[in-house]
Amino acid sequence: MAIWNEKAENMDRDELRALQLEKLKKTVRTAYDHVALYRHKMDEAGVTPEDIGSLDDISKIPFTTKQDLREHYPFGLAAVPMRDIVRIHASSGTTGKPITACYTKKDLEMWAECIARVATAGGATADDIAQISFGYTLFTGAFGLHYGLEKIGCAIIPISSGNTERQLNIMKDFGTTVLIATPSYAMYMAEVAEKMGVMKDIHMKCGIFGAEASTEELRQELQRRWGCVVTENYGLTELLGPGVAGECMCRKGMHINEDYFYAEIIDPITGKVLPDGETGELVLTSLEREGQPSLRYRTRDITHIITEPCECGRTSHRIAKITGRSDDMLIIRGVNVFPSQIESVLLTMEGIGPNYEIVVTRHNYTDYLEVKVELIDAAMLDRFSDLENLQKKIVTALRTVVGIDIKVSLVSPSTLKRFEGKAKRVTDLR
Ligand code: ADP
Ligand code: ZN
Repeated sequence: MAIWNEKAENMDRDELRALQLEKLKKTVRTAYDHVALYRHKMDEAGVTPEDIGSLDDISKIPFTTKQDLREHYPFGLAAVPMRDIVRIHASSGTTGKPITACYTKKDLEMWAECIARVATAGGATADDIAQISFGYTLFTGAFGLHYGLEKIGCAIIPISSGNTERQLNIMKDFGTTVLIATPSYAMYMAEVAEKMGVMKDIHMKCGIFGAEASTEELRQELQRRWGCVVTENYGLTELLGPGVAGECMCRKGMHINEDYFYAEIIDPITGKVLPDGETGELVLTSLEREGQPSLRYRTRDITHIITEPCECGRTSHRIAKITGRSDDMLIIRGVNVFPSQIESVLLTMEGIGPNYEIVVTRHNYTDYLEVKVELIDAAMLDRFSDLENLQKKIVTALRTVVGIDIKVSLVSPSTLKRFEGKAKRVTDLR
């Protein structure tokens, strides 16, 4: 199992903590001196950069939220003049103003380094042909992966997302061995490949997927369909883009690039820092970003930190699979439901495909949850008792895991929406 940067990734933990502290002090100083938002927040809390004497002192610094970034759109959080900025990205902004990210030359180098580590951990090498099926747009995914894979020496196919049949023909003709995509797009590509009959001519070595939540069950399904190892990685525009953390071949949590990011887990309600191993909201502080440093950014992503040593030999801590964004959580008749719980159940059931849609409605002050899922065999629609039995089985399995009654609608194969980027599977009509 190859490691890209032995010195950084296998660093002794005490040495790492000393390095993190040194970088944290510098980051806080720069943020305070050059970004009005951070200066105001720290002044209000009565904290100065000199108050950071240990890593634990980070808890004195106020949190930053998505709202803060929106209010300072577009460049209010930049810490350097525009002449030092060489790249600008933005997130989709579907729920408000987009979040922008400014990078200096050094930031881009650091980004490529982060991706080189994550992609090497996921199995990519200089011998590989890597197809990047993320959109080459303002979105951080494609460009982030691009420069990291190039640093490793992969032959990159910058195909972008969409035009799935063409993607698959290229995979076959060019001999793609590494695929970069969202898990939901990778699943759609697999379906189309099977229909086209080209899967036998595609010889993937690894799928390096990320940018959205997915379950272990979905990974298993992707590995089965593509016949290769699938690892996942994590990142967000606010901090960098992809490259914050990524899995190694052990596939037991994503190694954090801890020399660049300081991770904390907090109770999302009280804001209290939780001990390692407890589940809560991930809060991230950048330790080397020049263009746009982040202090204690509340990601809204729910996970826990794994501190046990990993069999791969890396000494870094890992984040466990993200179980959902705290704002993705559905409250149905008072019960907290994460879409990932539903996905886990659906993907283990026989007779149905991996695509689903969740619809939430409210009638007479009561919430209802409906899950639409595709049958694998269309002929079943004519066999009423089989259909009813399958439906009952799914309802029971969902009730056991989620704890509430969910209406299950079985629909014809290939009728639900497919996604070329991040999937949007929940429609809340309340
Ligand atoms: P947006 O989705 O808001 O347009 P980004 O593209 O920056 O913005 O997405 C970052 C978010 O994507 C993260 O905060 C997280 O919710 C989600 N995400 C990224 N990678 C993963 C992953 N491996 N697992 C779960 N969620 C992820
Ligand atoms: Zn590992």
